[in-house]
Amino acid sequence: MSGSAGTAAHTSAYEELQEFLLRPEDDAYPVHEVRECVCKACGGRAFSVTVMAEEEGSVRRTCLACGVHGFIADSEDFWDDEGEVEVCGCTCGHEEFTAAVGFSLYEDDETDDVRWIYVALRCQACAEIGVYDDWKVGYGPSGMLLDQV
Ligand SMILES: [Zn+2]
Ligand SMILES: [Zn+2]
Repeated sequence: MSGSAGTAAHTSAYEELQEFLLRPEDDAYPVHEVRECVCKACGGRAFSVTVMAEEEGSVRRTCLACGVHGFIADSEDFWDDEGEVEVCGCTCGHEEFTAAVGFSLYEDDETDDVRWIYVALRCQACAEIGVYDDWKVGYGPSGMLLDQV
C-alpha cells in the first residue's frame, strides 16, 4: 500500500452532504439541522428522486434497493399523482443519489419550527453535490418534519 496523500480520513457521502448544507451561504438561511434520507422499509440509503415540475416543495424519493417511495418533509401535501414530474439528474447524467435534508429553524422563538428546507443530493457516480429543491415551511408546529426525511 502506498498510502495515497490526503485521503487518510474517510468521509462518508452523508458527511459530505452535511458539510455542504451547513456551509453558510449569503443568499440562504443558515441550516441548523441535517438529516440523512434513509428508507423506512429497508434502511437503504440510495435513491432516485422525483420532483413536481411546477410545484416547489414536492420531493419524492424512491429507494433503489426496494422501490418504496418516501416523501421529504411535507412534500406529500403538495404531491399530485396526475401532475408533471421531473426526475433529478446530475450534470453527469446519473440519477442515483445519497440524499440529505437541511432544516433552517426559527432562531428567535422557543419552538423548533422549521423556516426553510433544503434538499441536497450527492451523485453516486461523480460525487457532485447540489441543492435540488428548497422551500419555505413557515407554519407551526413543524418540528416533526425533521423526522420525515
Ligand atoms: Zn428501501
Ligand atoms: Zn454525477
